[in-house]
Amino acid sequence: MNKRPLDLVARKFCRLQAACIHGGWVGAVIIFLGGCLDIRSADPTNTVSAGQARDLSTGTHVVLLGTGTPNADPNSSGPATAVIVDGHTYLVDTGPGLVRRASAAASHYQIDGLTAASLQIAFLTHLHSDHTVGLPDLLHTSWVAEREEPLKLFGPDGTVEMAGHVTAAWSADIQNRLNGRQPATPDGWRIDAIDIDPGLIYEDSKVRVTAFLVPHTGWPEAYAYRFETADRSIVISGDTAPTEVILDACNQCDVLLHEVYSAHTFRDRPNEWQRYHEQAHTSTIELAQLAMRAQPGVLVLYHQLLWGANPDEVLAEIRAAGYQGPLAYGRDLDAY
Ligand SMILES: [Zn+2]
Ligand SMILES: [Zn+2]
Repeated sequence: MNKRPLDLVARKFCRLQAACIHGGWVGAVIIFLGGCLDIRSADPTNTVSAGQARDLSTGTHVVLLGTGTPNADPNSSGPATAVIVDGHTYLVDTGPGLVRRASAAASHYQIDGLTAASLQIAFLTHLHSDHTVGLPDLLHTSWVAEREEPLKLFGPDGTVEMAGHVTAAWSADIQNRLNGRQPATPDGWRIDAIDIDPGLIYEDSKVRVTAFLVPHTGWPEAYAYRFETADRSIVISGDTAPTEVILDACNQCDVLLHEVYSAHTFRDRPNEWQRYHEQAHTSTIELAQLAMRAQPGVLVLYHQLLWGANPDEVLAEIRAAGYQGPLAYGRDLDAY
């Protein structure tokens, strides 16, 4: 495990007394209310924040391009994550807003690998719409930006079929661009899609990607992914009920990006929704118990189902459930 303390800028956890404004590139703007925030001090709660602009051009980093859910929260785009390795981008999930957020991150962190034309490879955790509805945007926006190679797309059974439908749905646009006066790269509209099986699914000179089957209500295949690079290991849960699989996948990984819902506000959900969420997602209490055993370098929350809870309350739920390791509430454009 290779922890990077400079990446994990500790800050005091001041509950209602301080707020970080995250949105676009203003993640580092901090409002002082009560004078309690001191990013230089040791953090007794071990909470980390990561929105500050810094050089991500070398080494391995995780940039959150969308931390949201199916709910149309304007501050949280649909699920999408970029693993950046020496400036090259590997996407996990294609939630709505992905390409715009990547463009914002390219500017914020000065990474060419996040510009639209550089988005060339993506891994889908599962085929729920909140994780995939940005696929046509990824394909076509990056093609118009002159991506030359076909988009590489890995995912569960049904990924190849979905890719075929996406290109078919936009066939008139594709023909127009290929045959009209507008310059267009000849192959950028294509998708090289692969329906994967669990195990090592991708490897190049920078990264090894392993897929783990996770339980997500009703889906025959939903995956978590582990990325291993020369300097870091990163596990992205996708959508999952609590599972030992994440323990095996992480096992002291450097970054565990995991979905979560508030166990406190869950109690007010209608019975039919409670039954669904119990089988589909992971509560704060369940995640705390998992993280105590997995011992990640940092646990980053995303795909947060709040139902009226605020971020500090979600963090407090995890602390109260016993996890005292490094912890962060992920927001769009944060980097770890
Ligand atoms: Zn989801
Ligand atoms: Zn899902």
